[in-house]
Amino acid sequence: MAEQWLASVDLGGTTTKIAFITMDGEIVHKWEIPTDNSNEGRNITINIAQALSEQLDELGETHDKLAGIGMGAPGPVDYETGIILNVVNLGWQDNYPLKDSLEAATSLPAVIENDANCAALGEMWKGAGNGARDLVCVTLGTGVGGGVIANGNIVQGINGAAGEIGHITAIPFGGASCNCGRTGCLETIASATGIVRLAMAELTKNELLGELSELFTKNGKITAKDVFDSARNGDLVSKKVLGEVSFHLGFVLASIANTLNPEKIVLGGGVSKAGSILLEAVNENFAKFTFSAVRDSTKLALATLGNDAGVLGAAWLIKNKLNQ
Ligand SMILES: [Zn+2]
Repeated sequence: MAEQWLASVDLGGTTTKIAFITMDGEIVHKWEIPTDNSNEGRNITINIAQALSEQLDELGETHDKLAGIGMGAPGPVDYETGIILNVVNLGWQDNYPLKDSLEAATSLPAVIENDANCAALGEMWKGAGNGARDLVCVTLGTGVGGGVIANGNIVQGINGAAGEIGHITAIPFGGASCNCGRTGCLETIASATGIVRLAMAELTKNELLGELSELFTKNGKITAKDVFDSARNGDLVSKKVLGEVSFHLGFVLASIANTLNPEKIVLGGGVSKAGSILLEAVNENFAKFTFSAVRDSTKLALATLGNDAGVLGAAWLIKNKLNQ
């Protein structure tokens, strides 16, 4: 029998990414469908099953080609039971039995894991982690997610909520409000949203000149990318914001490194596309706050898989489950 594929899903609030992946982690085919969160989320797994069948048909394959399905979902997950504990924007009630629902819809063995953890596993398997078995991955996107891998395994925590790096407190008093209901979390600073907020606070403080100010006047808004682009061109406001973001990020990552001494800390997500200007600034602060034995051995790196990290990590999980 020819080699089977793994089906893999990265579930987002608006888009569901799906892929067929070989046992060696090569993506054979990938596509996206809209996430339908109506009807208390009951259509989500049904739509995924239908999408798998359609694409198998188009590729001239049958259901037997698939060995199993892995899925990354936004929210804390009980890995053993595949229950998603609570999730805000997919329509499901708390404690939704996602694994059972996915297995019933697809007739495939399934595993479910938190999406940031899947991204970390993907980077470990095929990306910047390059096989490192002790790895921390920070996803800097609209929010800030995190995944901690120790000795090749995701650290789950007692309630599936380990690795919530975005909700480490960076500003103990007087910080901005966070989605989690508290204030001053790292996410309020180092996410794309946080970076824009910091930049807007600077821009509205004074009559400021410079590239970022001009972009705001021209477009009526700014993006995190604008901040990095104009910092690269020497814009003072943007450089100040970059300094603030990299200070807090470097400080938090140093504390994580001092605790875990991972081989690598991988920065992923849309914000990490800023590249070396961000990595160098974070590295400078990271070096200040790390213990020397940690500083000499834990390296910061940019993620290399982009949007594919999640599906690759979910595929790795189901592959390992099937091999057990
Ligand atoms: Zn928070």
